[in-house]
Amino acid sequence: LYNILQELKGNIRVFCRIRPIFNSQESCIEYIGNDGSLMVFDPYRPHNTRKVFQFNKVFGPQTTQCEVYNETQALIRSVMDGYNVCIFAYGQTGAGKTYTMCGTSTGLCEETGINHMALNDLFHISSVREDITYEIYVQMVEIYNEIVRDLLCQDATNSKYPFEFHPKNALGFGGLSIPNATMQSVQSSADVLNLMRLGEKNRAFSSTAMNHRSSRSHSVLTVHVHGKDMSGNTTTSCLHLVDLAGSERVDKSEATGDTLKEAQFINKSLSCLGDVIMALAQKNSHIPYRNSKLTQLLQNSLGGNAKMLMLAHVSPEADSYGETISTLKFAQRTSTV
Ligand code: ADP
Ligand code: MG
Repeated sequence: LYNILQELKGNIRVFCRIRPIFNSQESCIEYIGNDGSLMVFDPYRPHNTRKVFQFNKVFGPQTTQCEVYNETQALIRSVMDGYNVCIFAYGQTGAGKTYTMCGTSTGLCEETGINHMALNDLFHISSVREDITYEIYVQMVEIYNEIVRDLLCQDATNSKYPFEFHPKNALGFGGLSIPNATMQSVQSSADVLNLMRLGEKNRAFSSTAMNHRSSRSHSVLTVHVHGKDMSGNTTTSCLHLVDLAGSERVDKSEATGDTLKEAQFINKSLSCLGDVIMALAQKNSHIPYRNSKLTQLLQNSLGGNAKMLMLAHVSPEADSYGETISTLKFAQRTSTV
């Protein structure tokens, strides 16, 4: 089925996406190979050694949303075969994470993000498969300063509460996934779009500086798929679409108070995520899920048969050289190629 080709590729995949350059600065990306390699250099120190990175795939600045989706489609479709899948958008603020996941709000078809295309695809499969009946549910939460908030809660003021971990959630779906958070049944991708709008509204509600908040928190959209075949066998699986907080390092000498606290929480949770993926890539016996809320929530979808895709986003401008290198190093660390 959708999974056969995927099996051959292993469970951890790392792609890199480079967004178009926005000003007249020089690019720090020297070369992009079609074998998943790229070469980076520091335009301000052109004589320094070039650094080469190798991933499963590199998307250059001209890559369209559809091209990115085409490369992730088989992975997303494997959810319909009962596999758990996590897709992470990683990178510094402004590198294009939200663009890849959510697209732009202009509504132009070619600007649609992975989230929307994935849901369309899942509903399509669900409608054409006659041997299996599917039910699809959606949850959406954000993690800010290690606090989990339900973004689909109708009353946003009540959305903040400590999550308790149960081995099964309300619908009996296995795993921690996102216990207690509102679980909405959806019939079409239009339903999902409406929920995503509610989610964004709730997110904005909690913060006067929406843009700031959205770049300093992780947002997790979880799609639960419940399948039942003719003979009554059931499968449950989920797809997590994660727009991570910006990975940029905050200058300790300048950051104070809340900004510093935020930065420390983000640092810690991103490095925990990296540790978990690296431990999985190395097939370690101990996987440190417990060290952050994000990895706890996603525990059942990270490891085992679950499939993971890291989408590392980089800004190509010369000024971003340092952050670009650090994003690529993070991605390389989680990679198995
Ligand atoms: P992030 O979520 O990583 O902070 P955004 O997705 O908000 O970054 O991207 C920053 C800006 O760059 C946005 O205006 C976005 O529309 C634009 N952008 C990002 N990636 C691309 C791309 N591949 N093509 C065109 N515009 C892009
Ligand atoms: Mg963003």
